[in-house]
Amino acid sequence: MNLKALHNCSYGLYVISSTKGERLNGQIANTVFQVTSDPPTIAVSINKQNLTHEFINESKAFAAAILAQDTPLSFIGQFGFHSGRETDKLKDVNYKLGETKVPIVLDDTLAYLEARVVNQLDIWTHTVFIGELVGAEVLREGEPMTYAYYREIKRGTTPKTAPSYIEDRKEAKSEMAEYECTVCGYIYDPKLGDPDGNIKPGTPFEAIPDDWVCPICGAGKDQFQKV
Ligand code: FE
Repeated sequence: MNLKALHNCSYGLYVISSTKGERLNGQIANTVFQVTSDPPTIAVSINKQNLTHEFINESKAFAAAILAQDTPLSFIGQFGFHSGRETDKLKDVNYKLGETKVPIVLDDTLAYLEARVVNQLDIWTHTVFIGELVGAEVLREGEPMTYAYYREIKRGTTPKTAPSYIEDRKEAKSEMAEYECTVCGYIYDPKLGDPDGNIKPGTPFEAIPDDWVCPICGAGKDQFQKV
């Protein structure tokens, strides 16, 4: 069985957010899809270990912010590689509260969907929450981020708790050495540089300023290892 076959499934990239009492949280997910059109219903698969899972389970509501293709890696990293148990992930983010009181992320968002959970499926490590839409809005025109674009063009990585995580991601080789973030698995490719962090393509890792941080998880340069 070649699990790389699964890489041919196409997905978008979303911030899934929810609430529990006064607390708000959000996380990245690529597994949002429309289930029915009448009434409009969507599904999302969320890892049981994630704080957002606990919040959706409690509030029975969630929002999905559909991210734009030009979303910086650092924004995705803030939601995808940190836990809401340790940081307030919405602290420096523009959001509004929806009808169900869940936060709806507005930054880097093309459109959003807000849903009330009508059913849920327990699937091993994850729960698939099925939600009927109670709100939806287009905020601006643009290309939505796809999971393939995030992985191949933006060189984004996948945390182990994601449903689409596959344990094999060291692919590319180039003459200048690549360096891997030991925290999140992001690989710095000198050919591509880090345009979000003002590092031009063709910059060797050694020439990056010392205050540069991992574009995904914010780890320091000293946390990188030569691939
Ligand atoms: Fe990192």
